Amino acid sequence: MPNLSLPDSVFEAAAEQFQTPFHLYSEEGIRRRAKLIQKAFAWCPDFEEYFAVKALPNPAILRIMKEEGCGLDCSSETELMLAEALGFRGRDIMFSANAMPDAEFAHAGRLGAIINLDDISHIEILERTAGIPETVCCRYNPGGDFRIGTEIMGNPGEAKYGFMYDQLQEGLLKLKGLGAKRFGLHAFLSSNNTDTAYYPTLAGVLFKAARELSEATRMPVAFVNLSGGVGIPYRPDQAETDILAVGEGVWQVYEKAFPDGGVAVKTELGRWMTGPEGWLVTRAVRHKDTYRHYVGVDACAVNLMRPAMYGAYHHITVCGKRDDPCDHIYDITGCLCENNDKFAIQRPLPEIKEGDLLVIHDTGAHGFSMGYNYNGRLRSAEVLYTKDGTYRLIRRAETPADYFATLDLDPAAEALGVKR
Ligand SMILES: *Cc1c(COP(=O)(O)O)cnc(C)c1O
Repeated sequence: MPNLSLPDSVFEAAAEQFQTPFHLYSEEGIRRRAKLIQKAFAWCPDFEEYFAVKALPNPAILRIMKEEGCGLDCSSETELMLAEALGFRGRDIMFSANAMPDAEFAHAGRLGAIINLDDISHIEILERTAGIPETVCCRYNPGGDFRIGTEIMGNPGEAKYGFMYDQLQEGLLKLKGLGAKRFGLHAFLSSNNTDTAYYPTLAGVLFKAARELSEATRMPVAFVNLSGGVGIPYRPDQAETDILAVGEGVWQVYEKAFPDGGVAVKTELGRWMTGPEGWLVTRAVRHKDTYRHYVGVDACAVNLMRPAMYGAYHHITVCGKRDDPCDHIYDITGCLCENNDKFAIQRPLPEIKEGDLLVIHDTGAHGFSMGYNYNGRLRSAEVLYTKDGTYRLIRRAETPADYFATLDLDPAAEALGVKR
């Protein structure tokens, strides 16, 4: 069941203050979830949640994470810059490498971030750019299918991420030779997984590999990073992931794998932390009846790409009509010249009139941040619904000048309102 805890009046009052469309985030909800993940892993010494910046890269949100004792998971130069500007340092930054420029390793190294290598070839890049730190993390790809019980939950064998097991063994020995003293092991094997067995199953894979690698290389394990992937109930018939049961499940696996303790557990949740605490608020502006009934809204896929990109379901409610019968079938569309620009397809909803305020649920992670500018459409504002019940603009909407800003080299710049 999506998060229906905020009454329509919260969205209506926000829409009086700010032009639609905008994303609204609940400060209280985000703080509650940050506290809950820490409670779920309270058994673990040195537990840390590194919030995945890419899910919701707004400084106002990252500051809340800092206040709640979370670190940040970064994987680009601009994400590192955000972390740095907000005073995150050292162990509170995890930097997950990929096919990225060498300079980003250097930047992460300067901040003292924990660098999570994606491949054996990264060892040489790390040595050359940041130097080999005492604690280094490696990303593991066990290959094949990732199963929970008999169900296939992911396909690591097709994923671009991580070292194979033999490469880990070789890589860790190499790192040890270059001065590393201890290692962390990381893997991300399934995305948006609401099964409470996901983290415990993943932990089983990682704990076993970490122990064996530690024996083979005579290097201690500093931590195991379970990464992201814990899911949220986008659909009304889905249950919320019981995060306390997830923590309990990991503890049971941990106790057997590391009876003497001493190994920390880390997480890098994005979606679970903020997804249900964000909503895209948009207004119905058009009606069209052809082969289907269409409602056009003032948001489009540039404001929320998941439905267009993955066919993802996002729950939609109509302000003031939550209890009305869903006796109309609509496609809810944006204004892009792209037929996949639909927030809902053949969805039963209450009758929608022009001017109605629609709330698209679960946009707090991978929502605004996946935005783009196709068709010259502009990114929306972001509003924080504070714990005091006030609204704070935490990002203004883009203007045409923002869209044209990188054309400052063109003779038309001035006519477009851009300084040359
Ligand atoms: C995207 C990502 C996450 C967060 O994933 P969620 O599905 O939002 O939990 C965590 N770690 C890494 C390395 C990622 O790329």
